[in-house]
Amino acid sequence: MSARFTHPVDAARERLAQRARQLEQLVASARPRREIEREVTDLKDGAADETQAEIDSAELQRHLAELRLIEQARERLAAGTYGECMDCGESISPARLLAQPTAMRCMACQRNAEHRGQH
Ligand SMILES: [Zn+2]
Repeated sequence: MSARFTHPVDAARERLAQRARQLEQLVASARPRREIEREVTDLKDGAADETQAEIDSAELQRHLAELRLIEQARERLAAGTYGECMDCGESISPARLLAQPTAMRCMACQRNAEHRGQH
């Protein structure tokens, strides 16, 4: 590894850590709120609240899915495979990693994967 790859990886590590903290806070604040809503719902007709709970739950699922991606990216950082495309093994461009630190594929392979209906 030459020195010019050090910076994007360090930047990615920092961004992943920040985003993980953000998401953990969102997830932590979503859970108590949903428990409070459930108590309120018991006292009245809960149809509207159920819809809100579903929205909250979808949001929560998205946060959790992103946290899993971040977790995987951090594992690749620890293993020294971060920034390698999982499909072709080529280096993912630093610009792409800066824009999307959880990227697992290079641009070309990501496009192919989306064509195949994977994300
Ligand atoms: Zn690739």
